[in-house]
Amino acid sequence: MRQLEEYAAKSSKLSVIESLIESGAMSRSDLAEKIGLSRSALTELSRELIEAGLVRETSVVHDGQRQGRPSVLLALNENRGYVLGVSLQDETALLVLCDIHGNVLQNHSFELTTRPEACAAAIRDGMKYILQNKGIQKKNLLGIGLAISGFVDPHSGVCIRSNELDWSDVPIVSVVQRVTGVPTYLENDANAVATGEKLFGNTRKLRNFTIVTLSYAIGAGHYIGGRLYRGASGGAGEIGHYTMDPNGLSCRCGKKGCLDTISGIAAMVDLARNQSLAVENLQDIERLASVGNTAATGILRNAGQALGLAVSYLIQTNNPEAVLFAFTEDIEGGIFLTAVRQAIENNILPRFLPSTKLLFHRAAKSFWARGAASIAAHEFLRTQASL
Ligand SMILES: [Zn+2]
Repeated sequence: MRQLEEYAAKSSKLSVIESLIESGAMSRSDLAEKIGLSRSALTELSRELIEAGLVRETSVVHDGQRQGRPSVLLALNENRGYVLGVSLQDETALLVLCDIHGNVLQNHSFELTTRPEACAAAIRDGMKYILQNKGIQKKNLLGIGLAISGFVDPHSGVCIRSNELDWSDVPIVSVVQRVTGVPTYLENDANAVATGEKLFGNTRKLRNFTIVTLSYAIGAGHYIGGRLYRGASGGAGEIGHYTMDPNGLSCRCGKKGCLDTISGIAAMVDLARNQSLAVENLQDIERLASVGNTAATGILRNAGQALGLAVSYLIQTNNPEAVLFAFTEDIEGGIFLTAVRQAIENNILPRFLPSTKLLFHRAAKSFWARGAASIAAHEFLRTQASL
C-alpha cells in the first residue's frame, strides 16, 4: 500500500512538472483540477517541489485588479540550473547553453571530429569556454544532451550505428561523462528535436504530433499521448528509409529508392549537379526553379511529392494533431514545400484534413543543439520528480 502511495506521489510530481511545461505558470487550484488531485494533496506536492528548487512561486496582478492580494502562481524555477546541448551533425558541430525554459544563452561551434575521445574533448573545451564566458559555475550545469543522427540506445548511452559519424556501438555517453564530469544523455537527432519542441517550442500544448526534420537526410520524431514514442528498439520515425521506389537509387543504408535518395537535401543537390546545375543547397535549386529552370523544378516537385506521400502514410498510421516540418534553409513559399503540402492533401483520407495541422517552421541553426539540450532538461526534471 505504501509503495502504491509513493508511486502515485512520484507520478503526480511528474504531472505537475509536465503541466507547467505545457501551460506555463499555473495556480495551485488550476493545477489540482488539471491533474485530478485534491487541493491539499497539491499543496503538499508543490511544497516538496519548491523545496527541491524545481518550482517557484510567482505572483500576477490581473487586469483591473486594484485591491486584494495578487494571485500566486507556480512556475518552473529557471534559476535551478542550466543545460548544454550538443548537435553532432554537419561538419560544424554546435554546442548551446540553455536555461530550463530552452532559451539559448550562448552557442559555440567546433569542427566535428569523428573520434569519440576527441569529440568528448572538444565538448569539454566548449563547455569550459561557455561557462567561463557566462560566469556560470560547473556545479550549476544540470546535464549535457547529445543529439546524433542514426540509431542510438538512450538507456545504455550507446550509439548503435551512425552513418554520418561512421560509429558502430560507440559508448559515447560514458566517454563524454568521463571527460566532462557532467551527467550526459543521448538521443537520436529527430527525437531530440521533437522533445525540444514539446518541452520548449511550437508543440508544447500538443499531445500527439510528428516532427519531420529536413536536412542532409530526413528524420522524424513522434509524440503519442504526450510521450516520445521510440518503438521497441528506438527505430520509430525512420521515414527517411521508407522505400518509395524499389528500382530507385542506392541508399547509404544498403536499400534502394529510400525517401532520403529522393527528398533528402543532399540527394536533391546531387541530382541537380548530375544535371549540370551549379548548386550548393536547396535554396539554390529553388532559385533556379523560380526563373524557369525545368530540371530544378522537376527535382523539387518529385522530392516534395515523395515526402508528402510518405507523410500521408504517417498521418493515417498515427493520426497526429499536427505535423511540423522543420528546416534551416530559406525555402518557405517555394516549389518543394508546396509540393509536400499538395501531396499530403491529395493522399490522405478527407476526414483527416481538417484535424491535421501542417506547420512549416524555419528553424535557427541552433535548433538541433537546442533539441539536444532539451533531452538533458527533460531527464533532469524527470529524475528529480521521481526522487
Ligand atoms: Zn535507406
